[in-house]
Amino acid sequence: MSGVWDRSIIVNLTVMSQKPVVDQDACVGCQTCLSVCPAGELFKMNDEGKAEFVSENQDNCIESQVCVNSCPAGAISMVSR
Ligand code: SF4
Repeated sequence: MSGVWDRSIIVNLTVMSQKPVVDQDACVGCQTCLSVCPAGELFKMNDEGKAEFVSENQDNCIESQVCVNSCPAGAISMVSR
């Protein structure tokens, strides 16, 4: 029984090791990532009209990758936290 529990902990640590990052040159400012994120408020628009990941909220990221798959410009990728 404890083996199952230990494996669960390892899987969770492995899964929650990444966060999205926005390629500022590729972003077209459509704000899709702001609305589709299931964790909410993980992206904001900066003064240049580009999306940015809100690093202070990175612990809320569940790595759904909905942002990566929804961005029409392909501007979002996952990187190590
Ligand atoms: S969905 Fe992609 S192109 Fe649109 S604002 Fe977010 S990063 Fe930029």
